[in-house]
Amino acid sequence: MTKTVEEILLQDNYSKEDIIRLLKSDVRERNLLYAKSAQVKKEHVGNKVHFRGLIEFSNICEKDCLYCGIRKSNKNSNRYNISDEEILKAAQFAFDNKYGSIVLQAGELTNSSYLKRIENLLKEIKKLSDGKLGITISLGEESIDTYQRWFDAGAHRYLLRIESSNKDLYYKIHPADENHNYENRINCLKNLQKVGYQTGTGVMIGLPFQTYEDMADDLLFMKDLDIDMCGMGPYIEHEDTPLYNYKDALMPLEERFNLTLKMIAILRIIMKDINIAAATALQAIDPIGREKAIKVGANIIMPNITPGMYRNDYALYQNKPCTDEEAEDCAGCMDARINLTGDTIAYDEWGDSKHYKRRRGDII
Ligand code: SAH
Repeated sequence: MTKTVEEILLQDNYSKEDIIRLLKSDVRERNLLYAKSAQVKKEHVGNKVHFRGLIEFSNICEKDCLYCGIRKSNKNSNRYNISDEEILKAAQFAFDNKYGSIVLQAGELTNSSYLKRIENLLKEIKKLSDGKLGITISLGEESIDTYQRWFDAGAHRYLLRIESSNKDLYYKIHPADENHNYENRINCLKNLQKVGYQTGTGVMIGLPFQTYEDMADDLLFMKDLDIDMCGMGPYIEHEDTPLYNYKDALMPLEERFNLTLKMIAILRIIMKDINIAAATALQAIDPIGREKAIKVGANIIMPNITPGMYRNDYALYQNKPCTDEEAEDCAGCMDARINLTGDTIAYDEWGDSKHYKRRRGDII
């Protein structure tokens, strides 16, 4: 007998079928889901939002992911690489404005001078903030040795989205070559955990060919891997990518948006104390999309502090928000936005994943 949404929400753990039912919830039912996820968030992580000042320092990439606007083969992408000096200035801005943490994100490179450059940057950022600025990195697939080097240099959180946990779907959205190997990506996630990072993953929602079943599996994959953090957001097509050919097969943007909120809410209920980011891509669909995510379970927001003149060119997808602003404009805006959600911004704190600490036995 199929359960009602009310019945499912009385449970603490959900089967794949339960999750699919929740993903298919109508407006009335999804509001029940959001009420529960908001309650779980309040109890387990509190009504605090932590900042990660996002620095997208380069869009130069060796990879060729079929959905991504900065893929190697996109000749229309205006490539940039922000100088160390400017990156450090952005980090200083985050520190001075009490953001607590930053995220360094970029296209992927594997040459040794790049690896060394990142190592140095991490050390410099630690130095300028007297060790006080938390650092998340999101720099793709590297060897375990590199992950270790970067960890030793001061990064303590790493975000590497699995993009889709379904192997068949993974290969529909990535080229079938050694550079885009599904098993390798999973291995990278395990290596990050081994090194000791707070490890985050995530997926895109509303991809062509993706089913409700896939999305339910994505959430169970995250639970199974026992991740500490998650960043997931709607897929938004980019016209200079091969996946754009399937644009007519996509669900409407609003539906992708709503499904993302449901995914966040369900994940909050099944992995109570992890950090969940309100993805920037939500804001590309709805001007207050990230705030809506905060209301249903997310607790991390990543204000963009990339120097303004480069922002336009980190175009992973179309209609990326706030590309014409400077970091200073963001700061005041974020304050007002978070106040709208009823949560408060926790300035000057790292906001580490409680799940990570509990997993390691640091807190009971
Ligand atoms: N090279 C790094 C950073 C990639 S960009 C890495 O692989 O980890 C960060 C995220 O942007 C990706 O993980 C992907 O999930 C997301 N992204 C890329 N193209 C997108 C698109 N068209 N729509 C929505 N999200 C996209």
